[in-house]
Amino acid sequence: MTFHFPFDNSYARLPDRFFARIAPTPVAAPRLIRLNRDLAVELGLDPDWLAGPEALEVLSGREVPDTATPIAMAYAGHQFGHFVPQLGDGRAILLGEVIDRQGVRRDLHLKGSGRTPFSRNGDGRAALGPVLREYLISEAMFALGIPTTRSLAAVTTGETVAREMPLPGAVLTRVAQSHIRIGTFQFFAARGDEEGLRLLADHVIARHYPDLGTHEKPYLALLEAVIARQADLIARWLLVGFIHGVMNTDNMSIAGETIDYGPCAFMDAYDPATVFSSIDHHGRYAYANQPQIGAWNLTRFAETLLPLLSDNEQDAIAQAESVLSGYGARFEVAYHSGLRRKLGLLGAPDNVRPDDPFAQEKDALRVREDVQLAQDFLKLLQQSEADFTLAFRRLSDAVTDPAAEDALRGMSARPDLYEAWATRWRQRLAQDAWSPADRSKEMRAVNPAFIARNHRVEAVIEAAVQRNDFAPFEELLTVLSKPFDDQPRYAPYRDPPKSHERVEATFCGT
Ligand code: AMP
Ligand code: MG
Repeated sequence: MTFHFPFDNSYARLPDRFFARIAPTPVAAPRLIRLNRDLAVELGLDPDWLAGPEALEVLSGREVPDTATPIAMAYAGHQFGHFVPQLGDGRAILLGEVIDRQGVRRDLHLKGSGRTPFSRNGDGRAALGPVLREYLISEAMFALGIPTTRSLAAVTTGETVAREMPLPGAVLTRVAQSHIRIGTFQFFAARGDEEGLRLLADHVIARHYPDLGTHEKPYLALLEAVIARQADLIARWLLVGFIHGVMNTDNMSIAGETIDYGPCAFMDAYDPATVFSSIDHHGRYAYANQPQIGAWNLTRFAETLLPLLSDNEQDAIAQAESVLSGYGARFEVAYHSGLRRKLGLLGAPDNVRPDDPFAQEKDALRVREDVQLAQDFLKLLQQSEADFTLAFRRLSDAVTDPAAEDALRGMSARPDLYEAWATRWRQRLAQDAWSPADRSKEMRAVNPAFIARNHRVEAVIEAAVQRNDFAPFEELLTVLSKPFDDQPRYAPYRDPPKSHERVEATFCGT
């Protein structure tokens, strides 16, 4: 078993106050539901062995390989704006780290593996539904090219977990660049543990931002780098209609991956106020609030770093503020360039030559006009309650295919307004040199045909939980693994929910 899990556990070498040493609690009768063979290969693990009975013992927490140093990580966090000085892994255990084929260190972490010293009143377990949901959506995000934790395996436990009703239990093996969160920094800051903070920051720099190691102000550079990754990440979420659902500071990865898939969902009809999470009563984490919440979370992160930035608090605050003020622009650049690509507004127009002394100003003006065009399209979608994903996909096709444009026109509650908008769009397209075929190809590479639609996810979970039928789960995973391909045989998966299929709320299921 040692051979099969070549762990090297750098986090467990940090001081004891960073975690609790605890092994998973064995489960009664594990069964492998799914193994992610491609990911196993990427991690340098043997997929055939992982699919076998010995590995199942590990993936279910019944056995701990002797190379592992199982720990529950300590962290704090702001939950819906309220600070909780101690959360920690209450139902998860970090088994260890492996170095993947690219040389990147990745955590292997069991979620639903039993109680830990951080469990509070929880049972330390996960229900099958949320495990399948996380598996599907994290892998869908990966296929969309969005930084995310991955899912290596899902197993059922043969035990039931008590929620509103008894449900089958499950364990997810999650893979992440690390499980260090903003809340991990808050844990040490809340205790005034400056040494712990420094050790954590140094660990994060060495692990996730190695270029900063020699920086003259490494902790300020760390703040800036985390801001950049979060700004880019949240822009990517908006561009595919993703709503995280619980952007608490304990659910924000320092490595900039999407993490902790709870009541998350993809938006169907475009509405910036969309909220799915049943626990988000005030819409704090609504679709369009996500960029601001990102800024709020990063401000909490910056606060934890103050003692490392300068001995003089005012000076530290000034440094942090100057870096934090770059978040908005960073987000906008990422979001705006993404929107332009979604509309097929590629490259500089022909009439701006690179040697033009006003090239920069003209470019900036162009971006503003393009973004306005994008926002007007979004407004049309909102007025028409049109499906976000389908509309952009049809727009991609409309560049070459009049039938797709008819379909798009048909989605609009005001075809006249669509016509007026499309005329402006066509005029803009005529200003750069892309051929329709190439443009359409570029657009189709950023506007997915398939997202993890909520009604599909719920149907898959119901089949698994109610009927022990995992075929729909497998099929949906297959579809979502190639979101940018048309996959004609799976065409119905492109469709938005019919009114009776619409899912209004998603549940954490913790
Ligand atoms: P989450 O909502 O998954 O981000 O979890 C928030 C906090 O609650 C974390 O500290 C979790 O470890 C803890 N938690 C969630 N569900 C359970 C559970 N069933 N048992 C123990 N702790 C839990
Ligand atoms: Mg969490």
